[in-house]
Amino acid sequence: MASPTARLPDRFADLDHEAHVCSSLDLAREAAERGDGPYGSLLVRADDGAVVMEERNAINTADDVRRHPELTLAYRAAREFSPEQRRDLIMYTSTEPCPMCAGGIAQVELGAVVHSTAAERAADLYGRDTCLPSAEVYDRRGSDVAVGGPVLPEAGDAVHREVGDADGADG
Ligand SMILES: [Zn+2]
Repeated sequence: MASPTARLPDRFADLDHEAHVCSSLDLAREAAERGDGPYGSLLVRADDGAVVMEERNAINTADDVRRHPELTLAYRAAREFSPEQRRDLIMYTSTEPCPMCAGGIAQVELGAVVHSTAAERAADLYGRDTCLPSAEVYDRRGSDVAVGGPVLPEAGDAVHREVGDADGADG
């Protein structure tokens, strides 16, 4: 079976995907400890492997349903990086982005997203009937955002089993 990150563009090939996914899971646990949904994400620059931003879910502590980490990173990236620089950024995220966040990622045209727990798996874990995989959002929008994952899905699932969603609502 092909690696879940095999479809990523070559510029992202040398990054340590598993280490960055582990960092996203640490951020997810930190969010849960604060009373937010168990979701965390970071942005890494391809050319030097630097972590340039990280975010945790903050929907409860900020009382703001938009505060999924992926959407927050998307709009911060749009403020701080040029379109060319954003194509060189890859997001690592604990759970595959929900449709709101995938829309934001497509809007600002990040280069790629790698997740741990897939959207379909998260829907199963929380007994949800519906699921819209992020790749469908990118495809339907005509966006060239590469998707890699699931990477370390057992570790991602464990975060959900340990702490639950706490109304974090998909990311
Ligand atoms: Zn989201």
